[in-house]
Amino acid sequence: MPFIAGMSPATFISPEMPEATPRLFSTAPDCYCGARMSRRRTNRNDNGNKNRWRYECRDRSCKKIVFDDWEGVRDENPLCDCEEFTRGQMKRDGVFVFRCARNECYFREELQDD
Ligand SMILES: [Zn+2]
Ligand SMILES: [Zn+2]
Repeated sequence: MPFIAGMSPATFISPEMPEATPRLFSTAPDCYCGARMSRRRTNRNDNGNKNRWRYECRDRSCKKIVFDDWEGVRDENPLCDCEEFTRGQMKRDGVFVFRCARNECYFREELQDD
């Protein structure tokens, strides 16, 4: 029986294989400023965002970024202005902020830490 490379099921099934990150967007979104957005992969690790996929506004004066994953999106988050789910994110200054997860509105709410 001839050996055919890649035919063994073990080649495809491995418990160590990381699950693919579920995408938040099925199609490329438009930015709320009206410009198109480009899908890019984060290479820098400024905020622990290395290898995360994101959409970036092509308008250089806007430069809005929205991540294409579900990190920080939770059931208990507040709803945004378009009645959609929000993403909670820790900013560099230590403030926790909720924003429209799909970047479709200007919703912004800071979590007050008493
Ligand atoms: Zn924009
Ligand atoms: Zn919204």
